[in-house]
Amino acid sequence: MSTNEISTPSNFIKKIIDEDIAKSTFGGRVHTRFPPEPNGYLHIGHAKSICLNFGLAQGYGGLCNLRFDDTNPTTEEAEYVKAMKEDIRWLGFDWQDREFYTSDYFDQLYEFAMQLIKEGKAYVDSLSPEEIKEHRGPWNEPGKGSPYRNRSVEENLQLFERMRAGEFKDGTQTLRAKIDMTSSNMNLRDPILYRIIHAKHYRTGNRWCIYPTYDFAHGQSDSIEGITHSICTLEFEDHRPLYDWFLDALKIHHSKQIEFARFNLNYTVMSKRKLIELVEGGHVSGWNDPRMPTLTGMRRRGYTPEAIRNLCEKTGVSKVNSVIDAAMLEDCVREDLNKRAPRVLAVLNPLRVVIENYPESEVEYIDAINNPEDPSAGTRKVPFSRVLYIERDDFMEDPPPKFYRLAPGREVRLRYAYFIKCVGVTKDKKTGEIVELRCTYDPETRGGQAPDGRKVNATIHWVSADHAVEAEVRLYDRLFLKEDPTDVPEGVDWKANINPNSLVTLNSCQVEPSLAGAEPGSRYQFERLGYFCVDSVDSSPGKLVFNRTVSLRDQWAKVLKAEKWRTA
Ligand code: ATP
Ligand code: MG
Repeated sequence: MSTNEISTPSNFIKKIIDEDIAKSTFGGRVHTRFPPEPNGYLHIGHAKSICLNFGLAQGYGGLCNLRFDDTNPTTEEAEYVKAMKEDIRWLGFDWQDREFYTSDYFDQLYEFAMQLIKEGKAYVDSLSPEEIKEHRGPWNEPGKGSPYRNRSVEENLQLFERMRAGEFKDGTQTLRAKIDMTSSNMNLRDPILYRIIHAKHYRTGNRWCIYPTYDFAHGQSDSIEGITHSICTLEFEDHRPLYDWFLDALKIHHSKQIEFARFNLNYTVMSKRKLIELVEGGHVSGWNDPRMPTLTGMRRRGYTPEAIRNLCEKTGVSKVNSVIDAAMLEDCVREDLNKRAPRVLAVLNPLRVVIENYPESEVEYIDAINNPEDPSAGTRKVPFSRVLYIERDDFMEDPPPKFYRLAPGREVRLRYAYFIKCVGVTKDKKTGEIVELRCTYDPETRGGQAPDGRKVNATIHWVSADHAVEAEVRLYDRLFLKEDPTDVPEGVDWKANINPNSLVTLNSCQVEPSLAGAEPGSRYQFERLGYFCVDSVDSSPGKLVFNRTVSLRDQWAKVLKAEKWRTA
């Protein structure tokens, strides 16, 4: 699907834009932007904002910029810029030649600051950060003006230039807007526009030792780029009067800020600070660990961009905070993969089966359907021979009443192949563990039907032992056991909620030979087991590694239902 086919979400933002177009507010233009700070990897919450901003632009025949909001030299890195671009492209969006950096506006922003100083609307404050905080006061009491608030324009210009020249230490001077120390909106109590940070910036190097704050940079960057609709999350609602104040004071293009509720997902964390903690603490293998809510992790896990876009579309846009159930994301992934993942036979916990009445050296090739949802996917040949592997779980020596699969004396169907009957069990003499089943097959049942019309109660999957390819399979599950992992009592580490079974590695799985040399990143349905994807990091021509993308059904629904029973 090309991204042009993504429909614009119908929502309150669209209504605002429709009105603006009708009134020709911006000459009928729609120009949005996605403004990440390159201080980590993009996650599913960012995907929401990407789909929204790029989606609106597409829907209205407008434009969407990519802007790296890089005003903090201590946390930002080129590695993150590169990864973010890769992730946005993967998600299916294109910013063409509109790749911008707030750091490219440092000169312009400096000029803006000078303009405010000259008009008496900004001053250099020599209070320390702690003193500034104290002067601001609590929100329900008016704050106090700094003793430096009424410095002359000349003195301010001189001090600001000296700040830029590197004459002061970090934290000793700031540039503040002169607005209102008694405002009930804390953002208007003389906010800081520039602070001194003697640190090398990943793009501007050591050219600057003063850096604009996010608040001073963000709205002006939108203005510089001629953004019409500046879409952001709800926590910036209180900042809007400040952004309006800046744009009015500077008399420059005024974008319209529209706030919407953040996208939240349960059973995970999304704040970059917490994600960094997981990575640095070794709780996951990296930003691209398939359990991470990052786009790079989801891609490696086998999630598709279509599934993520579909989730973003389905969950809509709102002014009210809510939490999306992880099951909904998993359903979108299943829905998409069901349509296009080829079906294959793979055995995760192999149990050897010898078909006693099948000739020793014979091999036959059986037709198997590649995708019942997509007839155009055709069929393939799967080898069948005397020694097979089946799933250990599909056999029970002493089956309980509701177990319909293989058991001593019982007959089942092998998918696409024959009926087989268990006639014996071989055990390890020492441990008693079952090491092999002895079976017979009925040659009359080729293709899975008995000419005499007799039925079996189960169909199980299998592979031919001589032909199968060995693979490592990583069974991933949700990273956290609790819906809100950060909801912990005082003094308890939120990481205690990590699911200890979120990764189970199986080393000697047996997959059908058609998977030899499968492309990294390619996705399959292992029949009866789930969707799996060839790991793009650890797979090599000599070693197949699969990641479980998602199980066939929502396993958690069962667990949660059982829990409700217990706690009811
Ligand atoms: P984090 O707390 O994860 O670091 P952030 O907001 O600081 O998030 P930015 O890089 O500043 O991360 O975000 C870039 C854009 O993505 C912003 O416009 C922000 O509003 C949006 N965004 C970030 N997280 C979410 C989310 N959970 N839902 C919707 N939009 C989001
Ligand atoms: Mg941020």
